[in-house]
Amino acid sequence: MAKVPDMIQTWQMVQPTTRDRETGEVTPGKLEKKEIPVPELAPEDVLVEIAGCGVCHTDLGFFYDGVPNVNKPPLTLGHEISGTVVAGDESWIGKEVIIPAVMPCRKCYLCKTGRGNRCLNQKMPGNSLGIYGGFSSHIPVPSLDLCEIKDRQGIPLSHFAVIADAATTPYQAAKRADIQPGDNVVVIGITGGVGQYQGQLAKALGAKTVIGIARSQEKLDRALKFGADLVINSTDKNEKDISKEFRNICKEQALPNFGWKIFEVTGTKPGQNIALSLLGFTGKLIVVGFGLAKTEYAIGRLMAFDAEIIGTWGCLPEYYPAVLDMVLNNKINIEEFVQTRPMSTIAETFEEAHKVPPMKRIVLEPDF
Ligand SMILES: [Zn+2]
Ligand SMILES: [Zn+2]
Repeated sequence: MAKVPDMIQTWQMVQPTTRDRETGEVTPGKLEKKEIPVPELAPEDVLVEIAGCGVCHTDLGFFYDGVPNVNKPPLTLGHEISGTVVAGDESWIGKEVIIPAVMPCRKCYLCKTGRGNRCLNQKMPGNSLGIYGGFSSHIPVPSLDLCEIKDRQGIPLSHFAVIADAATTPYQAAKRADIQPGDNVVVIGITGGVGQYQGQLAKALGAKTVIGIARSQEKLDRALKFGADLVINSTDKNEKDISKEFRNICKEQALPNFGWKIFEVTGTKPGQNIALSLLGFTGKLIVVGFGLAKTEYAIGRLMAFDAEIIGTWGCLPEYYPAVLDMVLNNKINIEEFVQTRPMSTIAETFEEAHKVPPMKRIVLEPDF
């Protein structure tokens, strides 16, 4: 049985990177190793000993790009967490768990009407769960929404961290898109940390065709082994070129020119332009990636196409067990998409991941 500590060891974001509006001068962000007390646990709370925490684009947004946290720094980042319950609610002690990246309040109107993934009072580790986040030895969380891993089949516990957010956000998106067996799907940004699971999930949920669009050929080749049937390399191409290539593929493969479900996972303007140019008759565009770009579109086309554009946020904790099952039943592969590093490399790892998106999601394992 793991020991219950008095103190939590953690890598706090003391300050994010700031840029002076007038001078443009950049003050680098600061991560510091700290010790914080274990709080008194409420009856519904548990303390989880962290096995691993994934480094997500969202963390980098908070640290480098001026995306504000709900709770102001100092706080610890990290919301893709797996670990073992070591204290609190007796019925959970000793269990291996995934902590959902967003935990709804379960009390508000949105929660009660099935839209809890976008609950306005939701708690997200590394953002709105007090000062607590995943780049730590331990974290206090409500037990209600924990996803228990009963038999991890020899996969290291830390690897399951990627199910929180990276693999579940695309599941919620697939639900929003109402993916059905036989659907035809496009994933723009299929090579990214979230995008590759979007492709795998669409296929696992019965999509007939999955076309992946991205720039890295190496990662596109990998996508062809995991979810994608066809790929388009978008390097040095604009949305018109892509649209032409897409139409040619449809012709060659005898695929319909209607009903495509398009997932935009990049959050970038070029990605959004591609998505909008591909949206056609009875199509659905699901916006999974976040970005601040303003993109122009003649929305009257939605009327003519009888088409939809839908946003999607996070994932309901109740979907986590389904995604975990898909991983354990080899319908979704996580092992080819995870690498682990000691948590003490956090500063270098952030730098590296911010410069070039890694081939495999980096999960940091506590080594305090
Ligand atoms: Zn994330
Ligand atoms: Zn709520």
